[in-house]
Amino acid sequence: MGARITGVRRAGKHILIDLTADKVLEIHLRMTGNLFVVPDVRFLNTTVRAWFGFENGSGIVFEDPRALGKIHLRDAGYLPDVGPEPDALPFERFLDMVRAAPRTPAKLFLMDQGRIAGLGNIYAAEALFAAKLSPVKPLAAAKTAKLQALHAAMAEILQTAKASAYLGYTDPGHFGEGENYPVAVYDREGEACVRECGRKIKRIRQGGRSTYYCPGCQR
Ligand SMILES: [Zn+2]
Repeated sequence: MGARITGVRRAGKHILIDLTADKVLEIHLRMTGNLFVVPDVRFLNTTVRAWFGFENGSGIVFEDPRALGKIHLRDAGYLPDVGPEPDALPFERFLDMVRAAPRTPAKLFLMDQGRIAGLGNIYAAEALFAAKLSPVKPLAAAKTAKLQALHAAMAEILQTAKASAYLGYTDPGHFGEGENYPVAVYDREGEACVRECGRKIKRIRQGGRSTYYCPGCQR
């Protein structure tokens, strides 16, 4: 379409690339999608679902092996319908959200992007482990001290994850690995709890996804 990129932003899990001609390219990577800057956009492998060529022959490719990602061309001013990110969410407002969802299981509460943006399946599980909270019980039933721990853990975990992801993208032309977060419970079914509480990590299904947690520490 012959546009120039004027800026790149992020809102929760949505990447927003501002373009001339009053348009915004919205990209959601989903589970396996990734964006790479390549020196020659003619070299595309089979998992590339979209590419954007630059005048000098280089370009951005959108790789998406599982074809779950989404790309939309939006009008300028568009913002995805997501809640605040944890580091922009005051504790009092978080408490109001918790009280407004008295029956929602904690894990599903955290993953609802319309409520809080940025926590996916992995980071929701990790945040609940950090705060020693059960994924199946509603947060409204938890003690304030644990909710404070969760509030802090959400921001800290995403900060660590973002920092590790930026590292993977600091060398254009090379294929970065995305974020590399040191998980404590995610995908560790059957392994001993890292807190050495004596229990093993369990996996259950919640909202169609796997939830990993320690039945010993998370109550
Ligand atoms: Zn444990």
